[in-house]
Amino acid sequence: MSIGILGGGQLGYMLALAGYPLGLRFRFLDPSPEAPVGRIAPRVTGDFTDRAALEKFAHGLDVVTYEFENVPVDAVQHLAKKVSVFPPPGALETAQDRLKEKQLFLKLGIGTTEFASVPVAYDIDAAIKKVGLPAVVKTRRMGYDGKGQWVLRTAEDVKTAKDGLPKQPCIAEKFVSFTRELSVIAVRGKAGETAFYPLVENHHRNGILRLSLAPAPTVSAEIQKAAEDAARKVLESLDYVGVLAIEFFECEGKLLANEMAPRVHNSGHWTIEGAVTSQFENHLRAICSLPLGATTAMGASAMINLIGEVPEAAEVLAVPSAHLHLYGKEPRPGRKLGHVTLQAPSFDHLTARFRGLPAFFQRPDFCLQGERR
Ligand code: AMP
Repeated sequence: MSIGILGGGQLGYMLALAGYPLGLRFRFLDPSPEAPVGRIAPRVTGDFTDRAALEKFAHGLDVVTYEFENVPVDAVQHLAKKVSVFPPPGALETAQDRLKEKQLFLKLGIGTTEFASVPVAYDIDAAIKKVGLPAVVKTRRMGYDGKGQWVLRTAEDVKTAKDGLPKQPCIAEKFVSFTRELSVIAVRGKAGETAFYPLVENHHRNGILRLSLAPAPTVSAEIQKAAEDAARKVLESLDYVGVLAIEFFECEGKLLANEMAPRVHNSGHWTIEGAVTSQFENHLRAICSLPLGATTAMGASAMINLIGEVPEAAEVLAVPSAHLHLYGKEPRPGRKLGHVTLQAPSFDHLTARFRGLPAFFQRPDFCLQGERR
């Protein structure tokens, strides 16, 4: 089968790596001639809005998927007239807009942070009155990795925000003092079959994921079930096919859904070595009508993102059960360049192996040891 992937970043790269052993072929569309997938698959370089590039990309494909959440819905709908696209364009449309996403959670009875629409930035008072202070204001669209977000703590902050916020529709959310952040990776096949990975505990810095622990330590069966129930509702309501990620705040023993991603997700990278079937393979199995693979975790894993710089490969590989993934991207501050997954038979072994990581991971700016709450 020939699979077309919109977006040529590391998620597409890892999808292709997971698909080659299954005999799948890939073609990518990405605006950048430097997209990481260029190393391993043919690609069309062009804008997602360029109809000629879309035609060239789609020619002869059996199925199209996307690895980039901000692909214009128009482009996906255009492709869907010629070739099957999974997840369905409606899922992409919902996930691109924080307001629609939250409204879906609400409609499905999934707990979420209190929120209010902010149609234009200078008209923020009513929204803040509804959610209270402190609050987080986020642009409805195009925000990722903490970009397009402002925390307002005082009435003074609200006044200042009126001038400082971008002139585009936003959403205001109650600032949640959560115990920790968890995410679930779920997958649904074409016949409606579903599978769920164990919840993952995520640690962010400046809005960017730094570390995932999988399975999340000390998760009760109730919390795992609540996450799976929430994901199942979203999957079914969108008639979803493929991998979906939902990020939650754990708050007083309950889950509040923060956001969803209609694609393979950074907090699922651990599944490459840490689960029976990786999220990448399961996404491909789902969109190709193949049976879903087992989502069971094998021992405990820690996934550490390499952001802005990478350590010496030899130093990482000297650590037992450390797996290095480099995406082939030019180093730049704040850029995800790769990740390391550390694997162990149990969480105790994992902690010991964590301590054995080279100096690169022990520096205060990386602060891995201290991040476990
Ligand atoms: P997001 O882009 O919505 O995933 O936000 C990035 C990160 O900002 C989250 O992973 C949280 O650490 C933090 N954050 C976002 N929304 C809230 C909120 N309502 N309350 C507290 N922290 C938040």
